[in-house]
Amino acid sequence: MHLGRWLLKNLLAGMGIGLLFILVHPREMPQETLYEQQAGEATPLMPPTPTLPPRRVGIVAGHAGGNDPGAVCPDGVTEVQVNQAVARHVKTLLEGKGFTVDVLEEFDPRLNGYRALALVSIHADSCTLSPDLSGFKLAVSSALARSGEARRLLRATRLKQCLADWYQAETGLFFHEDTVTPDMTEYHAFEEIHPETPAVIIEVGFLRGDYDLLVHHPEIPARGIAQGVLCFARTQGWNVLPLPKPTTTPAPNRP
Ligand SMILES: [Zn+2]
Repeated sequence: MHLGRWLLKNLLAGMGIGLLFILVHPREMPQETLYEQQAGEATPLMPPTPTLPPRRVGIVAGHAGGNDPGAVCPDGVTEVQVNQAVARHVKTLLEGKGFTVDVLEEFDPRLNGYRALALVSIHADSCTLSPDLSGFKLAVSSALARSGEARRLLRATRLKQCLADWYQAETGLFFHEDTVTPDMTEYHAFEEIHPETPAVIIEVGFLRGDYDLLVHHPEIPARGIAQGVLCFARTQGWNVLPLPKPTTTPAPNRP
């Protein structure tokens, strides 16, 4: 037989058998074969679509909604007032960047299973300790650190690092690492939110030593937090620029 005809005949016969096989066993095509065929392509048939985390941020205004106002100053200023003022400014700044921002109370029912790009809980430290104490603190969950969940821990640590860098840059305060307490590392909300939501708690300063900044200029600590969240958003694939420099900078009277 002529070679061309022989090939054509066998090819047609092969196609016929193949078609018959598909018709008779439409659901019995081995998955491995399909997979191998796809894998062998120069370009994948269905390239993976990168999924961005939600453009939503949770801000806990520490002590809000409860009977405990947190730290109290001799003049009656309370920590919860400061936390709420800072949280409000953070919300405005991040909403200006297109984020949905939930300002949550300390024991907000929405914390259960809460999903977002990030959760930041805002607190402030004592108003009665030495006036020389100044600085901010940040902590991620110690349970997460112990868990061996490397991917989730790395993400939370990135959030913490972004906040540390930007908070220091915007406020001029330093990281007061020595006074991070189990109250921070075992913070209740860490256990309540969805495990995929990276979370940190920040003590924005000492109410006594950093009184003027925290009480009279809450927009400055808020900028530090918002910039930190935007920095973290960039590490997670969101194309967002830092906040522009404020047009008028009030000069806080810091020690
Ligand atoms: Zn507090």
